[in-house]
Amino acid sequence: MNRHITIRVVYSILFMSFIIPAPAQTGFDADRAFDDLIAQCDLGTREPNSVGAKAAVKYFQSVLEPLADEFYLQNFDMQDPYADRQLNLTNIIARFQPEKTQRIILCAHWDTRPRAEYDRTYPDKPMLGANDGASGVAVLLEIARNLQRKTTDPGIDIILFDGEDYGKPQDLQHYLLGSRYYVKHLYKPVAQLVILLDMVGDENLTIKIDPVSYQSAPGVMEEIWSLAADIGYDQFRLELGSGMYDDHVPFIERGIPAIDIIDFEYPGPDNAYWHTHNDTPDKCSPESLEAVGNTLLIWLYQQ
Ligand SMILES: [Zn+2]
Repeated sequence: MNRHITIRVVYSILFMSFIIPAPAQTGFDADRAFDDLIAQCDLGTREPNSVGAKAAVKYFQSVLEPLADEFYLQNFDMQDPYADRQLNLTNIIARFQPEKTQRIILCAHWDTRPRAEYDRTYPDKPMLGANDGASGVAVLLEIARNLQRKTTDPGIDIILFDGEDYGKPQDLQHYLLGSRYYVKHLYKPVAQLVILLDMVGDENLTIKIDPVSYQSAPGVMEEIWSLAADIGYDQFRLELGSGMYDDHVPFIERGIPAIDIIDFEYPGPDNAYWHTHNDTPDKCSPESLEAVGNTLLIWLYQQ
């Protein structure tokens, strides 16, 4: 090692010790969150009416019920738009400080797609959804563990929606099944803000601004993105991305401000893994879950 390199190493250690304290302020454990991502995928595909979906509901209940002040399974049925059968759907609802009127909903979809239409080999088979499904849930389960240890000022509702990804391409009315149902059957007191996480596990994480979210709650997005930059998480980019049709839309339509924290470039702008059988845990990373989970948790404790 020559002297030049030695000095650079010292500088980088000093720099790292300067930027690390902020994330260390929360107890967000990225490895435990990543274990939650893998555990969901180990249950198999989790599309409505599947064996994996039943096992997933049990898993979420086993984690969240002991942590939350109130826990509910919001079950509902509907006619399958694509087959002669009933769909059995379940939203998972974990409430912290349910008596508080000032509230924030943190949500993600837990279901995975019954098809992988952009897969070249097996487009008709259900997909595993490590990123598109399991990643947002993994972050929220780890946030729930932190909320039990240390409460926030606002009450928090963690909601895992079923049936987000059920629709066939272009058939928008058969997406967002769980969130559409929830906004018609809101738990009271009703939250004043909704923060949705979706596709936050990509190891090559780039979270741009969803214009639909920005129109709904620009100040909240600016706060969260600038907080991430202050901490040193460069995965958050203050530039416009694609407009998202996701579980935040039913809330916005009901007049409740809602934002979607989503990386819709998986792994890059061509979105080559999205809705394919390449959406597997090896394409995701604990560091990405940490960037989102830690930023969100620090922001929540500042409210
Ligand atoms: Zn999807």
